[in-house]
Amino acid sequence: MLSADTRLAAEIAARRARLIALTQGLIRIPTLNPPGRKYREICDYLAAELAPAGFTCQFLRARGAIADSDTYPRWNLLARREGTRPGETVHFNGHHDVVAVGHGWTTDPFGGELKDGKIYGRGACDMKGGIASAVVAAEAFLAAFPDFSGAIEISATADEESGGYGGVAWLAEQGHFAPERVQHVIIPEPLNKDRICLGHRGVWWAEIETRGRIAHGSMPFLGDSAIRHMGAVLAEMEETLYPLLATRTTAMPVVPEGARSSTLNVNSVHGGEPEQDEDYTGLPAACVADRCTITIDRRFLIEEDIGAVKAEIAALMERVKARRPSFAYEIRDLFEVQPTMTDRAAPVVRSTAAAIETVLARQPDYVVSPGTYDQKHIDRIGKLRNCIAYGPGILDLAHQPDEWIGVDDMADAARVMALVLAELLIDAPH
Ligand SMILES: [Zn+2]
Repeated sequence: MLSADTRLAAEIAARRARLIALTQGLIRIPTLNPPGRKYREICDYLAAELAPAGFTCQFLRARGAIADSDTYPRWNLLARREGTRPGETVHFNGHHDVVAVGHGWTTDPFGGELKDGKIYGRGACDMKGGIASAVVAAEAFLAAFPDFSGAIEISATADEESGGYGGVAWLAEQGHFAPERVQHVIIPEPLNKDRICLGHRGVWWAEIETRGRIAHGSMPFLGDSAIRHMGAVLAEMEETLYPLLATRTTAMPVVPEGARSSTLNVNSVHGGEPEQDEDYTGLPAACVADRCTITIDRRFLIEEDIGAVKAEIAALMERVKARRPSFAYEIRDLFEVQPTMTDRAAPVVRSTAAAIETVLARQPDYVVSPGTYDQKHIDRIGKLRNCIAYGPGILDLAHQPDEWIGVDDMADAARVMALVLAELLIDAPH
């Protein structure tokens, strides 16, 4: 009797043209976000492709979610294929939205051109190639093992590139990722076919405003400069906070390695007179700035507590205030996500690791993402911990011009995903 991998490998190889056509078909629907174009079209396309394999499809619009409107409705596809007897559900989730094209392309960003074993286009690796790989993995599995327990789900969801609120977050709020419904989740983001991504660091965005008093710029001593106060805040960050953050490292296997420390980025500084329209040809006015704001992006580690992260910034502001009598400030929370890391002993991690070993003849690398992705919603809203990102493609190519995905990588990743299905849904796959 042939091994499960041998049978699945043959089924994947027989679907190579299908894998290419599916990836091209997805790329050719320009699901740009923002603003969120053609979401229904891509759901319709994928549903038609999934129907022959026996998937039942639901079209779910995230009504009431941010960014949902009649002009740009937030459509999601949830497809489910039942097995022949009860069991666990394995869910593949891919976001169908892509970021802006940008400049510097030498191929048509929505052409899906195949050249030297690579398919080019916006979203090729992030992550339409991953969605196509999951679909072909499911089709290969169903052909090889029509008699299986449980169910396979494939979702194509909106808005991951802008936070996922009209996509996975909304589906999770509706109960679609409840642990009694779904037991294993794989998100085929482009992390490389031999890596398992266990989770991501935490994030806190905040706006810090310093306040002063406006006066004539020729007599600044009559006012109080909010920009100078902010300068003192930034100097305090340089002297005390950045060195401290650099010493804080994590046991999380974050890649790239620089992100294994706590990090802080100042996204923007605005202060004083607002910037004028481009057609304004005059000079600026002489004023002391009475307001200055910065937006900070603090990425924190699983070993850090978000309360402590916020308290550290508050303490820094108080230190500056103690030295500057007229100083006033405000800190406003904008956004926060807790870090998450799935246990290496979790069933979906063990099955994927075993499948990578079989297919690629090597041990997988375990990684953690520096930034968040849709796992945050599955973890926090869905309360489902048995979730990873695993998929073909090179993350560095995401959001770049001439983004591409390798057909061989997609085929290998599809073979791994099909074998994971066999591990989880067949009683004795070997
Ligand atoms: Zn992505």
